Amino acid sequence: MSEIKLEPPKKLFIKTYGCQMNVYDSERMAESLEGYVQTDRADDADMILLNTCHIREKAAEKVYSELGRLKPLKELNPDLKIGVTGCVAQAEGAEIMRRQPAVDLVVGPQSYHRLPQMEARVRKGLTALDTDFPEEDKFEHLKGRKKMQRAPAAFLTVQEGCDKFCAFCVVPYTRGAEVSRPADKIIREAQELVERGVREVTLLGQNVNAYHGGMTLAELIRALGRVDGLERIRYTTSHPNDMDDDLIAAHADTPKLMPYLHLPVQSGSDRILKRMNRSHTAESYLRLIERIRAVRPDIMMSGDFIVGFPEETEADFQATMDLVAQVNYGYAYSFKYSTRPGTPASERPQVDPVEADERLQRLQALISRQQYAIQESMVGRDLSVLVEKAGRNAGQMLGKSEYLHSVHIDNATAQIGDVVRVRCTRAMTNSLTAVEI
Ligand code: SF4
Repeated sequence: MSEIKLEPPKKLFIKTYGCQMNVYDSERMAESLEGYVQTDRADDADMILLNTCHIREKAAEKVYSELGRLKPLKELNPDLKIGVTGCVAQAEGAEIMRRQPAVDLVVGPQSYHRLPQMEARVRKGLTALDTDFPEEDKFEHLKGRKKMQRAPAAFLTVQEGCDKFCAFCVVPYTRGAEVSRPADKIIREAQELVERGVREVTLLGQNVNAYHGGMTLAELIRALGRVDGLERIRYTTSHPNDMDDDLIAAHADTPKLMPYLHLPVQSGSDRILKRMNRSHTAESYLRLIERIRAVRPDIMMSGDFIVGFPEETEADFQATMDLVAQVNYGYAYSFKYSTRPGTPASERPQVDPVEADERLQRLQALISRQQYAIQESMVGRDLSVLVEKAGRNAGQMLGKSEYLHSVHIDNATAQIGDVVRVRCTRAMTNSLTAVEI
């Protein structure tokens, strides 16, 4: 009887750029390709996927230069297939294959559930392009989570796309209109993740608090709070206008919901907020923070800021500095305005780049001072840490506190996946040191 010769698994290399949702998408894309195992070396791969981000200027150029670096690998291995996925794939489409013929497939974030068929097509020597916003829900066509042990913290997409159309942002064009996944599917995926060792999920959405998949986000969080084995819940990224009273109340009545909230505001100037089409004022944002802190006084606030937005004056910038000083952020991400093709702001007169750089440095200096002062205020306090991996030093474990601080636990007895009580002993620039109590 002839022996069945099993094909060795092919190797898949995925390079992920950008946001947490791209990290999640890369995981789902890897899981959707039967017969592949992942490799962390491009020169060892049979398929290379670049999962791209389009949020900042030159994003597309970065992808083309990366493709230029990968092209020679195809000369060494003619069976190698190269694909571009994510938001640059969505924005550029066929242009990618025109500019770089070494690319075999291009697929957008809304249609990567068709990757298996596209892979079969390119294995026949054809190319494949798909940047549709398909009617069907891609999650219905993606297989369940792969049966493998996982890290204790995982991302879980619950909503995609955005209807806000902020004047600087490409997301509504690359990710499309807001779509919420059915709550029962999300709860099942969370249960699948818990069965594989996950103890914490971060619910993802470009506008996550606009979630409406048969439940509101607050109701979904409470439902997930009843999943056995799931210890901690977070969510990101929120818009101030969708922080309703019930979601704020969930921060008080759902113990598994962590006291950390990422709530971008972008500017402290009402004039600029208007020109950004953010549909709220600095005052309403500050009132909202007060209402959130009223129900959860220890909540760690995180924000996003853009400096040098078209026509921003020194007075506008000062309003941003004043807002940051008032909120006192544990974390804040700040960037110089970046022209995005096709967005309303890209047509407007730009701020002098030197001026914008100088403002960014002043803002980042303020944010670092705030962040470090909050880190220092943790010394002597008791925290709860989800242990994620072994630390560099012997007997040291590394994890995240409920406030999302990185915590090094010395002389740890806790194992990966445990949630332990610790006392903070020291604050460093970006992390804390602690001992178990
Ligand atoms: S809310 Fe966020 S994702 Fe939506 S358009 Fe504005 S910046 Fe972009």
